[in-house]
Amino acid sequence: GAEITARNIDNLSQHFPMCMAHLHRSLRRDSHLRHFGRLQYMLFLKGIGLNLEESLIFWRSSFNKITDDTFNKEYRYNVRYSYGDVGGDSNRRSGGHSPYSCQKILTEHAPGPGDAHGCPYRHFSMENLTSLLRASGVTDPQVLHGVKEDKESQKYHMACNRVFEHLHRKELKRAKDDGVMTAAQLETIVHPNEYFKRSYLLKN
Ligand code: SF4
Repeated sequence: GAEITARNIDNLSQHFPMCMAHLHRSLRRDSHLRHFGRLQYMLFLKGIGLNLEESLIFWRSSFNKITDDTFNKEYRYNVRYSYGDVGGDSNRRSGGHSPYSCQKILTEHAPGPGDAHGCPYRHFSMENLTSLLRASGVTDPQVLHGVKEDKESQKYHMACNRVFEHLHRKELKRAKDDGVMTAAQLETIVHPNEYFKRSYLLKN
C-alpha cells in the first residue's frame, strides 16, 4: 500500500469516510479549513499514521495562499500541540489529542455555515449528502434510498456502514469467500479511523 505521507493524502483519501472526504475536498477547494475542521481532520490524519513532520508539510502545503510567516505564527503551534510536541507536561506525556470518534463528531460542536467539520450523514441536508455521495461513487438508487431512511431515523452509523459495504462490496465478498473475515471486521464501524483502516486493508 501507499506510504502515509503528505503527498499521498490525495490518493489515500479514496479510503476516507464521508466526514473526512468532505474536509479534504473543502481544504483543496479553499486552501483553508476553519478551527474545528482543522482539528477533526488533523487528528484523523494523525490517527492514520501521518507523523508530525509530514503533518507540518501537509498543512503548510495545503494552506497555499498564505505566507510562511503567517503559517508559522498562526498554525504551526497547533499542529505541534495536537501531536504533543509542545504544550504542558500532560499534553506532552499523552502525545497530544486523540482522533475523534463518530460519537464525538456527531454530538459536539455542530457545524455552522461555512464550516466543513461534523458528520455529513447528520449535518448535511439530504440534497447535499446525495451530491457528496454521488461524487464519491455512490450512485445506486437502492443504497441512496437506504441512506435516506437511515438519516431520517437518525441512524447515522448505519448509513455510514451501508456506504462502506457498498463501496467495498467486491472486496468484502472476496474476503468472505476466502474465509478471512474476522469477527472484528464484521462489527459496525464507529470511528472514522476504523473506517480508513478497514478500507485500506481491503483494497491493498
Ligand atoms: Fe464520519 Fe462517523 Fe459520520 Fe461515518 S458516521 S461519516 S465515520 S462521523
